[in-house]
Amino acid sequence: MKVKNCYICGAPDALHYFEGRSETMRVKGMERRVDNLSGWECHECGDGFWDPDTDSADRYGEAGDELVIAAQKMIGAEMKRIRRKLHLTQKEAVKLLSGGGHNAFSRYERGELLPPKPLVLLMRLLDRHPHLLADAEDLAEGADMRGAFTYTVNNDAEALKAS
Ligand SMILES: [Zn+2]
Repeated sequence: MKVKNCYICGAPDALHYFEGRSETMRVKGMERRVDNLSGWECHECGDGFWDPDTDSADRYGEAGDELVIAAQKMIGAEMKRIRRKLHLTQKEAVKLLSGGGHNAFSRYERGELLPPKPLVLLMRLLDRHPHLLADAEDLAEGADMRGAFTYTVNNDAEALKAS
């Protein structure tokens, strides 16, 4: 058994080598299992790292990336389903619900971008209570104050000269 002093926490003979391990990652009910992982793990601090002489880190990282992309696509499909149920175009959904760039909703739906949590919540609420869309339309009036102000620049120097 290969053992080293832990160079993370400093505990003597605490870093142990492991190999042939399987790990399962889960996100939103989806799973990815990665087999035959090897690396070092500290029995004191619990920290560790994949064996750099193997492809463990790469395979583990790829599986994680795959899961993140799959989760984004799943949320995207949900956004699309609810938007269609509410009979909104992507443009209308941006204007009324999400804000952001004109193609924000299309990016959410394609799974390119994870929608912000308040938007996901709002969509799920509207999914459960679609009649609230009429209230949302009422309440949206004046809710976005960005760009609502006008201002003039007062030139003091000129005002003093004139008086
Ligand atoms: Zn340690």
